[in-house]
Amino acid sequence: MTATRVALVTGGTGGIGTAICKRLCDAGHKVATNYRNEDKARRWQAEMKASGYEVALARGDVSSPEEAAAMVEEVVRRAGPVDILVNNAGITRDGTFHKMTAEQWHAVINTNLNSVFNVTRPVIEGMRERKWGRIIQISSINGQKGQYGQANYAASKAGMHGFTISLAQENARFGITVNTISPGYIGTEMVMAVPEPVREKIVAQIPTGRLGAPEEIAYAVAFFLPDDAAWITGANLSVNGGQYMGW
Ligand code: NDP
Repeated sequence: MTATRVALVTGGTGGIGTAICKRLCDAGHKVATNYRNEDKARRWQAEMKASGYEVALARGDVSSPEEAAAMVEEVVRRAGPVDILVNNAGITRDGTFHKMTAEQWHAVINTNLNSVFNVTRPVIEGMRERKWGRIIQISSINGQKGQYGQANYAASKAGMHGFTISLAQENARFGITVNTISPGYIGTEMVMAVPEPVREKIVAQIPTGRLGAPEEIAYAVAFFLPDDAAWITGANLSVNGGQYMGW
């Protein structure tokens, strides 16, 4: 078992993020997340507290380098230096590429991929100095296989894994592991917003015959954390009910 660590989960107030925050709290870690909307975040924090989970909040839009840096500073001030970073915040702005606007493209690349630079850059030096760290990117099955209408999203998610395998090489000697998790379709708001007939078609392609649960992604995050996992770095772990079994 890993000792108590400080964990920052971006997008912790979302469907998958909430499950990750709970799992990390259950493992005894001090957990923090960012927020953009104060009222929404405080409501979320109160609900978490009512179910026995303490999660620190720090304001910050992760697509902005300045806000992300200030958010990390706030987390360090409240909880301590970050040992575990889960880059989970993400959005979709779907559309076929021939109709895609520059706004749709840049919003997704900035939120899903540039955020990984914005948040990881301020934490990596401390991890290297302390000779311990865990950095996990929450990518997507659609970054592995591509998806009609998601050129922006698939590019951002595939980019996350390119980042993972480079950072893993640069930091292996510093006790830092860097890994990607590529979830399949999980029953969060993001997927429940898809029209039901489309969702039924998606489920029909999943060998397990169901959507995944956020807790199943949180379990995968926990897998990478203990000292026993120190030799697992640069991996891309598919957690998708068997929907895609390639790279
Ligand atoms: P949600 O929409 O439920 O949660 C997304 C979270 O990211 C929210 O907390 C949101 O905060 C935060 N966020 C979005 N943009 C920003 C930003 N610019 N700055 C700070 N925070 C931001 O999504 P999920 O929980 O479903 O998804 C989590 C991750 O998992 C995403 O990266 C997604 O791409 C990935 N994923 C999801 C799958 C699924 O089936 N659900 C499948 C594969 C991958 P706010 O409340 O402020 O909007």
